[in-house]
Amino acid sequence: MRIYQSKIHVISDKLIKSWLRCRRKAWLDSFGDQQEKIWNTHTTLQLDHQRKCFSDFMGKKNGVGIGIEACKKGKDIVAGLTIKEKLSTNEFLKARPPLLKKINGQSIWGPFSYEPLLTLQGKRLTRENKLSFAMSAKLLTSLQKNKVHKGIAISQLNQTTHFQEVRFSKSIETELKESIEKLKADLLLSKPPKVTSNRKKCSICCWKKFCDKTAYAEGHLSEVSGIGSKRNILLKEMGISNISILAGYEASSLKLNLSKFGPQHGEISDQIIRQAKTLLTGKAIKLQSSNLLKILNKAPGLLIYDIESDPDEKHDFLHGFVRISNLKSKLTLKNKFTYKPLLSVNKSEEYLLWERIRKTLKVHEDWPILHYGETESLALYRLAERQRANKHELEEIKNRLVDIHLYVKEFWCLPINNYGLKSVAEFIGFKWESKGIDGPQALLWWRQWKNSRPHKKIYSKNLRRIFQYNKDDCLATWEIAKWLSTQD
Ligand code: SF4
Repeated sequence: MRIYQSKIHVISDKLIKSWLRCRRKAWLDSFGDQQEKIWNTHTTLQLDHQRKCFSDFMGKKNGVGIGIEACKKGKDIVAGLTIKEKLSTNEFLKARPPLLKKINGQSIWGPFSYEPLLTLQGKRLTRENKLSFAMSAKLLTSLQKNKVHKGIAISQLNQTTHFQEVRFSKSIETELKESIEKLKADLLLSKPPKVTSNRKKCSICCWKKFCDKTAYAEGHLSEVSGIGSKRNILLKEMGISNISILAGYEASSLKLNLSKFGPQHGEISDQIIRQAKTLLTGKAIKLQSSNLLKILNKAPGLLIYDIESDPDEKHDFLHGFVRISNLKSKLTLKNKFTYKPLLSVNKSEEYLLWERIRKTLKVHEDWPILHYGETESLALYRLAERQRANKHELEEIKNRLVDIHLYVKEFWCLPINNYGLKSVAEFIGFKWESKGIDGPQALLWWRQWKNSRPHKKIYSKNLRRIFQYNKDDCLATWEIAKWLSTQD
């Protein structure tokens, strides 16, 4: 496929980050077919976050410059510097620290020196942060001929900027060295390493589509809903290495073997064998009849509820409601609906949002509130609690919420690899108006819109896109509810 030794190869801080996330990703980044990559919002969100952290930090600084010329001139802040170091005849190390800050010391450029700045998503310094910082520190030490002892990590939480010192210690340096060696060994492989068993991290990876195809074709156990990385290892130790073997396994002996590692593993045996069989046949299995049709038939109308959130700010910025009032006409008919987006621009004015939600709930007092997953029910209930809703109101909210995700999981086994809203809705044939959009994309639009508000509203179309996306999620929930009821 490729011959590693014959070409000049660059081990960059970016590649190390990829490798730490997933060994396969580093290999694919280096040798994979780049046409197979898909655009992923995650990187854009990270860059957006980085830009915000740095612009707040740089607001107080003068003398910002670009690249090596800025270092020579002794600028206070340097951006866009790429540092390269030869490792052997055909190997280079490369780092691109996002920003450098001038500090005291003696470097090749004069009586000053530089240290790297980095940004964090959240407060915790991850291994990815530490090692990419270590790479910058190592190469900057060689370039400026003055040892880098530390750097600064900047994060933003709840609209406050936090600073954290990161030491370039001997142990990080050793860890970096060892990681580079292991990464180089992976790059010598003629095929990419296996698809990771922890598929959660695939959701933010540009190789997701490509790896999904591989996992499906190979009958990877991670395709089975209910099998995470730990259970995957346990099953493999028992000789169950793919979906076909799992589907043919005897349920009672699987239960016995898995129970040795904890009752939670034993209890799920039936479910994962059934799920494996469903994936092989491609046919949905109805486990039992639900009472959903009864609930819908009794209801004069329905509210379908979905939220959009900014997890870094712990802010649910949009509470969307779809109202279906003509429920008495049969469910199979196209029900007319109206969409009501309730926006919470400032977290500090949550009481205004609550008043609007309370009004919406009161106007449609007897209507059930359908939602998909526990995020929505928790968000609504906690909002009501924070706003000191009385006991009766809280009880009412609890009683009216109907989680469609629970109904799907409890009453059906579907030939899909997860029971998220998108997968289930696509399985039943729901067509999205906002195609290829996901939660992180909506978050990015929201942040762009919010940042543009003090200036001109150049991103106001983003708000319309978020509403469309949120409305689609409500309608997908409704389609699933209808599908469940008609199957009953
Ligand atoms: S999609 Fe998953 S398995 Fe594939 S490279 Fe990315 S993280 Fe690794």
